[in-house]
Amino acid sequence: MSNLETENKEGNPLTIKEFQEGIHQGRIEGYRCKNCGHKQIDIIDFCPVCHKSALEKVEFAKEGKVLTYTIQLVAPEQFMNEVPYAWAIVELDDGPKITGWIPFISKASDLPVGQRVRFKKSYLPGIVFEKI
Ligand SMILES: [Zn+2]
Repeated sequence: MSNLETENKEGNPLTIKEFQEGIHQGRIEGYRCKNCGHKQIDIIDFCPVCHKSALEKVEFAKEGKVLTYTIQLVAPEQFMNEVPYAWAIVELDDGPKITGWIPFISKASDLPVGQRVRFKKSYLPGIVFEKI
């Protein structure tokens, strides 16, 4: 944990805790590289594209589209009451991809690839999206 909470050189850190607090308050936060513009939702110390550490913390769009997903019929304990659901990779409208889940999906016809979704502030664990 301590490694992940190291401040980056720009003095604008995003910790796992802050990221999770943001999610609970309805914000998806991550980084934008000031050098090349790459955007990433992750706790990173340097840009994976240009390897510079000039990162700024930004809030990303709450809407995007489903790139791919799997339907979960059997779930880990914290999601036990939520099955079935889709575990999805969503591309947000301003570029970065994020993994989240979409309740009430039991078959492929419930969720076409490319489906528009919106991040939903929720008491549920993880990052919840809903169809729009
Ligand atoms: Zn970069």
